[in-house]
Amino acid sequence: MKYLICILLIVSSLFSLEVKKLSWPKGDTFLTFLQENNIDNKLYFNLEREDKELCSEIRAGATYYETKNDKGELVQALIEVSEEIQLQIYKDGDGYKFSTLPIIFDEVVETVTIPITSSPYQDILNTTSNSELANEFIRAYSGSVNFKYMRKNDTITIKYRQRIRLGQYHGTPDIISAVVKIRNKEYFIFKNEDDGKYYNEAGKSLTSYFFKIPLTYTRISSPFTRKRWHPILKRYRAHLGIDYAAPRGRAIHSAADGRIVFRGRKGGYGNVIEIVHKNGYKTLYAHQSRFKPGLRVGSRVRQGQTIGYVGTTGVSTGPHLHFGLYKNGRAINPAKMVRVTKSILSGNAKKKFLKYTKVLAKELEEERKNPTQKVLDLKEIPNKSLLKV
Ligand SMILES: [Zn+2]
Repeated sequence: MKYLICILLIVSSLFSLEVKKLSWPKGDTFLTFLQENNIDNKLYFNLEREDKELCSEIRAGATYYETKNDKGELVQALIEVSEEIQLQIYKDGDGYKFSTLPIIFDEVVETVTIPITSSPYQDILNTTSNSELANEFIRAYSGSVNFKYMRKNDTITIKYRQRIRLGQYHGTPDIISAVVKIRNKEYFIFKNEDDGKYYNEAGKSLTSYFFKIPLTYTRISSPFTRKRWHPILKRYRAHLGIDYAAPRGRAIHSAADGRIVFRGRKGGYGNVIEIVHKNGYKTLYAHQSRFKPGLRVGSRVRQGQTIGYVGTTGVSTGPHLHFGLYKNGRAINPAKMVRVTKSILSGNAKKKFLKYTKVLAKELEEERKNPTQKVLDLKEIPNKSLLKV
């Protein structure tokens, strides 16, 4: 009998935990979330600099999971801040603890050959139902091929890597290689894994980048890291932007044409300006000492226009610009997207790249000639991500 009661207790306590999938409300911050859940805000103030910055990465509309007990107390919250990292707040005795957890996802590599019937964008979308793949393909070829000249029966072959989480596409796919056949001419692109940029078969950079580094800096004091293991904290950390060290007061310029959507304080990021650009991109400029007068939310800015000045507002150890770049709300590495002067690989980097692309080109050729027409079927993916959020 005792045994039975014990089991009943366990079962009922499990069932009283309610996990809710929610969308982060506009205007809420990490601190307001703590307040709403009666959690001491020391949890935030005792965090280290990098973690405070991560807390400022929570964006309106971000997915988060909330687990509450039958008393309505928060037991655990998991808040997505990037493609790979989520913040975890969990009840520990009478108090709460902060941690970070990697987001579990599956990764598949697919190669598809798509005959052109209307336009590359539309045909990729119709075949794969993956609009991010269509966007990334257009971006990758933006500096080299004019799709206007494509005709019926021309083809596109793409080898790409896609992340899948909870039965849905997760984040921007990685195009590994692609070939566009227009009449009898072939145009290849290959992603160089070392710098994340696209090159042709001769090692010449192809993509036209519309972002420019937003200031003249002294050095990069902290690079972008999606996720790295911290052996002492025993958990993952991340830095979702590039820190450019520069003297206080140095002018900060808009990285591209766009429109200001945020201008104000943002937690650990201090004085922040956010600018939206075409194709779902957004840039963030943090720790500013002051903003350029005359600019407000809604103002249009040109590439290179001064928007503010370097400072140390928010959590910052010395004057620097934290520069963030987002695609559809998710942080991506700005280093892969800003224009660099060197556009041709040389020396060993070139040798290594050409060897690698030779194999890929052959593979694409075979796929183009004998298309398997296998398109990613989300239902077929063994869903380890379904087991864990
Ligand atoms: Zn930073």
